[in-house]
Amino acid sequence: MAQDTMEKLVSLSKRRGFVFQSSEIYGGLNSCWDYGPLGVELKRNVKDAWWKAMTQKHDNIEGIDASILMHPTVWKASGHVDGFTDPMVDCKQCKSRFRSDKIDLAKPCPTCGTRDSYTEPRMFNLMFKTFMGPVEEDTNIVYLRPETAQGIYVNFHNVRESARQKLPFGIAQIGKAFRNEITPGNFIFRTREFEQMEMQFFIKPGTEDGWMNTWREERFNWYLENGIKKEKLRFHQHGPTELAHYASDAYDIEYEFPFGWQELEGIHSRTDFDLKNHQQYSGKNLQYYDQEANEKYIPFIVETSAGCDRSVLTFMVDAYDEDELGGETRVVMRFHPKMAPIKAAVLPLVKKDGLSELADNLFRDLQKNWKVFYDESGAIGRRYRRQDEAGTPFCFTVDYQTKEDNTVTIRYRDTGEQERISLDKVKAFLAEKIG
Ligand code: ATP
Repeated sequence: MAQDTMEKLVSLSKRRGFVFQSSEIYGGLNSCWDYGPLGVELKRNVKDAWWKAMTQKHDNIEGIDASILMHPTVWKASGHVDGFTDPMVDCKQCKSRFRSDKIDLAKPCPTCGTRDSYTEPRMFNLMFKTFMGPVEEDTNIVYLRPETAQGIYVNFHNVRESARQKLPFGIAQIGKAFRNEITPGNFIFRTREFEQMEMQFFIKPGTEDGWMNTWREERFNWYLENGIKKEKLRFHQHGPTELAHYASDAYDIEYEFPFGWQELEGIHSRTDFDLKNHQQYSGKNLQYYDQEANEKYIPFIVETSAGCDRSVLTFMVDAYDEDELGGETRVVMRFHPKMAPIKAAVLPLVKKDGLSELADNLFRDLQKNWKVFYDESGAIGRRYRRQDEAGTPFCFTVDYQTKEDNTVTIRYRDTGEQERISLDKVKAFLAEKIG
C-alpha cells in the first residue's frame, strides 16, 4: 500500500513535471533529483512561505545567504570533522549497505533475508570533500557544507551589527546542503544534495525553555497554515540517547509518510555550544554585551531546522488524492492555494466565436500577479482533469454567456462545483484565496 502510493507519486511527478530523476538519459544518478516546471513552482512557494513567515513577520529575524564552501576550520569547530558520522554495516551475503542505527541488527537482512550476516559497524563521515585550487593535497581540502547553520553562526556579529539587532534575535537562511548519506532513498525524502531552511535564534542563557516552546508551536502551526493535515503531524522529543552532541533538548516535527512517521524538521536547544567553539577556534570574541543587564555572555541558540525538499515531499504526499467525480476516477492534488504551483487556469470553452480572445485577455491580466495557465485544447472535462492533477485550485471558463454578461464560470478543484462570477471580480477572488 505504502509503496503503491509512493510509486504513484513518483510516476505523477515525472508525468506532470514535478520531479525528474537527475541525469536520466544517462541512467540517472542515485538519490539526485531535478525539479520540473511544476515542482520548481511548488518548491518556490514552500521557500517563499517559510521566508515570509520567518523574516517578514518577525522584525527581529534577518536573512542571509552564505557561501556553500567555508573555511575548513569551521567544520573542526562545529564538530563535523570528528563527529559527523553515521554507523554503517554491510550484509556479507548480498552486499547491501545499511545505517546500523536505522535497522535491527538482530533481525535478518531486509534485502536478502540472511541472518547474522552483518559486518561490524564502521563510522562513516558524511561530509563531501573537494579541493580548492588546482593542487589536490590535504592542505587544500574544503567541504561542501552539510548544513546551513554554520554560515549563520560565523556571521553572528556581522548581522547583529549591520542590522542593529539586540538579543533575542534570529538569522534565517535557505540553501543547499550536502551529505554523503549511506542509505538515501524514498524519493526526495533523503538525498545527498538537498536544501535546508534554517533559523538560528540567539538568546540570553536561561531563557531557552520558553523559546523552545515558542518556536515549537510556531513551526508546527506553519505546516497547518499551509494546509498539512493535523492528524499527520506530531512531535517527537529526543530521549537522552538520541540527543546530538550540541543539544540540551530537541524535538522533531514528524509527518506520517506512506513509509511511516519520519522527521520533517528539528527544533533544537543548542546552548552556547556553537558560538563558544567558534570563539575558541577563530580566536575572535563572540560574546554579546547585554546593555540592560550590563553583562557579557555567549548567547544560547534555539534553532529551527527544516528540510525544503522534505517539505516539498510532505506537501505532495499530503495533497495526493484519488476520488470519483462525475462517474470517473480522478487523481487530484489538493494543495493549499498558497502552495499550488499554478494558481488558476483560464479556459475558453471553445476556440471559436471570439471566446479565445476573451479568455486570453483575462489570462494576460491575471498573469501580472500570479502563475496562471492558459489551455484551449481538448474537451473541457479533460482540461479540468489535467489541472486537478497539477493541483490548480481554480479554473475560469469563458463561454458564450461571457459575451453576454461578462461573467465566467469558476470551477473548484476540490469539489468539481461550478458557479458564475463577474469578470471584474476574478482578481479580488484570487487575491482573497491566495493572498
Ligand atoms: P536524519 O536523522 O533523518 O538523518 P538529521 O536529524 O540528521 O536527519 P538534521 O541534521 O536535524 O537532520 O537536519 C535538519 C533537517 O534537514 C531534517 O529535519 C530534514 O528535513 C533535512 N534533512 C537532513 N538530511 C537530509 C537529507 N539527506 N535529505 C533531505 N533532507 C534532509
